[in-house]
Amino acid sequence: MKPGAAERPEVVVATSNPGKLREIRAILADLPVSFRTLADFPGVALPEESDDYEANAIAKARTVARTTGRLALGDDSGIEVDALDGAPGPHSARYGGPGLSDGERARKLLDALRAAPAGQRGARFVCVAALASPADEVVTARGECAGSILLEPRGEGGFGYDPVFQPHERDGSMAQLSPADKNRISHRARALRGLAADIERLATR
Ligand code: IMP
Repeated sequence: MKPGAAERPEVVVATSNPGKLREIRAILADLPVSFRTLADFPGVALPEESDDYEANAIAKARTVARTTGRLALGDDSGIEVDALDGAPGPHSARYGGPGLSDGERARKLLDALRAAPAGQRGARFVCVAALASPADEVVTARGECAGSILLEPRGEGGFGYDPVFQPHERDGSMAQLSPADKNRISHRARALRGLAADIERLATR
């Protein structure tokens, strides 16, 4: 018999970004675990971020595993734009300065690429996911989604830079895809599916 949600092993998701949290829960919905969030552990502060996705993802997962005594899942992600030499990359959440909305940040990116013609707007989303146990076992996986930066925002779905990013695998922007379709091709889905077997193994042993 399958365990009910209350009896399943718990995994704490080390993010306070609601867009990411929604996606992580959907991408890993088939696992026999129950996801908790940092809202359930209000005293836990996430560490400062450096410019290395893997180090950031590990630091988030480790901090949360240590302070909650549970298995923890962290991710760090960003958008890399070829014409900007890979920027903003790990600094994507802070691109353009503090206090901007997602829409204003995406607009900053379009402004920075004003002079770049259609053929020179290559970009990719990158995500590193990390799983940490309270005993300090750590596993990571990386995922990428290649595409290009549009000339104008399109669509209302997703979060962050989704309205200005067109994956090579689809015709519209990431924000025009259904959540299920974004979760088929996204950088986050690819990284997290790479950790699925380890999550199940460490959660259920
Ligand atoms: P961090 O991983 O919390 O440092 O933040 C990553 C930032 O990259 C987010 O705040 C978004 O601006 C951007 N980002 C990461 N993943 C996505 C995505 O799936 N869609 C759109 N923007 C994203």
